[in-house]
Amino acid sequence: MEHVSLPPLSRVAICGGTHGNEMSGVYMVKEMQKQKVHRTESVSITTVLSNPRAVDACRRYMETDLNRCFTDALLSAPITDSTPYELRRAQELNAQLGPKGSPEAVDLLCDIHNTTANMGMCLIFYSLDWITLHIYNYIQSKMTSAPVRAIQMDIPISEAYSLESVGKRGISIEVGPQPNGVTRADIFNMAKEAVDLTLEWLQKLNSGSTFEGGEVEAYTLVKSVDYPRDPTTNDITAAIHPQLQDNDFKLLKPGDPIFLSFSGETVKHEGEELYPLFVNECAYYEKKIAFHLAKKVTLAFPSISVKKED
Ligand SMILES: [Zn+2]
Repeated sequence: MEHVSLPPLSRVAICGGTHGNEMSGVYMVKEMQKQKVHRTESVSITTVLSNPRAVDACRRYMETDLNRCFTDALLSAPITDSTPYELRRAQELNAQLGPKGSPEAVDLLCDIHNTTANMGMCLIFYSLDWITLHIYNYIQSKMTSAPVRAIQMDIPISEAYSLESVGKRGISIEVGPQPNGVTRADIFNMAKEAVDLTLEWLQKLNSGSTFEGGEVEAYTLVKSVDYPRDPTTNDITAAIHPQLQDNDFKLLKPGDPIFLSFSGETVKHEGEELYPLFVNECAYYEKKIAFHLAKKVTLAFPSISVKKED
């Protein structure tokens, strides 16, 4: 691949509390605001508590999931008396950090989340962007406290629904396992390390470092699996099988157990070999998702550096 040179990346947003009960981002942003972290040498940093009402209530959201409000259609929807709080907030955040798809948008938006699933350190991004792949590669090569993996979402940016899609590039940092409303130091430190490494990489890029090209492995979603349900009541009738629980990213083969019903029967995986992700994520019960299934892909990226001023 040919070398890519690009302008410096000088404006970054670090967001937390997009889901008000995912505490790593909430406390990281509050701490950065307390310490008045506004820039490193070459990078200006905007810190944002995305959903302050949900943070105060320690809930995922008040009226609707904020992190599903950032599609082009919802961001341009007219505000009326019945518009949910989170959609109003999404439009405010779009005005502050975007507008999405415009030259005024921040160069990089990092949004910090927690998951109750055993996902370790997981980055999520939409576009196949060289910058995000380089940052992923950098974090993966430097971080030793947890396995570092990435999910690439195959959705056009106009339909991308989460906050990080407002930046010119965006990364969602998902760290787990951590229960909602709980703060674990090991999980907080992993999220903090990922943010610090991201800022360090930007600093190095802006000050003239060249980063070599290469390849990284990532996961792309194939499908979601719901819990077995009672057809009359719609109640779930099984839990994640103990052999699947906490085994995110461990290849699931046909015949491997996935659910254990409350009457004691095992439900087995059928079909192709795939990787389970977000196994038993608390917030996905309402979305009728027990886990996602993904395949592994290899993504290549070119060497990059900033354009030298003439
Ligand atoms: Zn979240």
